[in-house]
Amino acid sequence: MRSMLITNIGELVTCVPGLGDGPLGIRRQAALVVDDRKVAWIGRAADAPPADARVDAGGGAVLPGFVDSHAHLVFAGDRAAEFAARMAGEAYTGGGIRTTVGATRAADDEQLRTNVARLRREALRQGTTTMEIKSGYGLTVADEARSLRIAREFSAETTFLGAHVVPAEYAGRTDDYVSLVCGPMLSAARSAGARWIDVFCEQGAFDADHSRAILTVGAAAGLGTRIHANQLTAGPGVRLAVELGAASADHCTHLTPADVDALAGSATVATLLPGAEFSTRSPYPPARALLDAGATVALATDCNPGSSYTTSMPFCVALAVREMAMTPAEAVLAATTGGAAALRRDDIGRLRLGSRADLAILDAPSYLHLAYRPGVPLISTVMLNGELV
Ligand SMILES: [Zn+2]
Repeated sequence: MRSMLITNIGELVTCVPGLGDGPLGIRRQAALVVDDRKVAWIGRAADAPPADARVDAGGGAVLPGFVDSHAHLVFAGDRAAEFAARMAGEAYTGGGIRTTVGATRAADDEQLRTNVARLRREALRQGTTTMEIKSGYGLTVADEARSLRIAREFSAETTFLGAHVVPAEYAGRTDDYVSLVCGPMLSAARSAGARWIDVFCEQGAFDADHSRAILTVGAAAGLGTRIHANQLTAGPGVRLAVELGAASADHCTHLTPADVDALAGSATVATLLPGAEFSTRSPYPPARALLDAGATVALATDCNPGSSYTTSMPFCVALAVREMAMTPAEAVLAATTGGAAALRRDDIGRLRLGSRADLAILDAPSYLHLAYRPGVPLISTVMLNGELV
């Protein structure tokens, strides 16, 4: 592969504190060389070594590509009418998931694949170079397996979410459905290449005992664990995530002080999904309390057709800054290294020697513009795994 020198960088945001100024490790008058799909050199532009090709950043900021660690991309149909009803005053309950389950089961593979490809492209254009993709709208052995197979075509970070909701045909028989999830569905998910297992631990979905059972069996089968926790109520999800050593507790909207302390004292990342609060007109998660307590915080889109139909990490960064009292630097860290931590990866979400060459060039001189200029398409160039896309 040809080496590539990136020059004329407004500011190089490494997201490695020791590599430059401040928490984002910002370097000025810097250049970066990519070789063999990795960051091969970072230094003063004046000292840059020769390379086979040159990319002019046009004075724009260069950041690591965003790591979106929570997305539900394998589905059919949309729920725009449900969104409109909610904006007219109806409450969000999570019940609409079953609408999408029906549409997803009725779709053929090519429809599902086309939709994932469309959303993945959309995210890439907005600087997302890693995107976790969950199943969870099939909820039969065959439909969950095919969702994961299709997800695997687009991401190494695929998550089995058979425990998204109890499907209508199992109404009143949650124990039976949990047995299915823990047995044949989990086996099929492993065969389909799932890396993670996730549970929607919430009133109306799965309680703490069912969630623990599912995640424990999943972990024993070799999958990493993550939980949809404390989205609608201050339930047991966060405590369970910490108890099980889950990589991430996602949503964290309703937290008790004990939940905050538990996360801060653990290796479980608090993944905040402000697109969901935006789209359900709900209070935002207590990011300030989490950060002040020392928890690791990630930002992700939760892209799904019901409660957060956005693929835009810059939008989530802007929401986190404006609505959740995060500084722009904290938000960018959460959208890069935070997401990487939530996926237990250290090769992405930062720009240092040996990092995967995933980066975004802004049509703006500073990362501050991501929150300062909300809704503006600021990503001018994206490099994924060493290649311009
Ligand atoms: Zn979700």
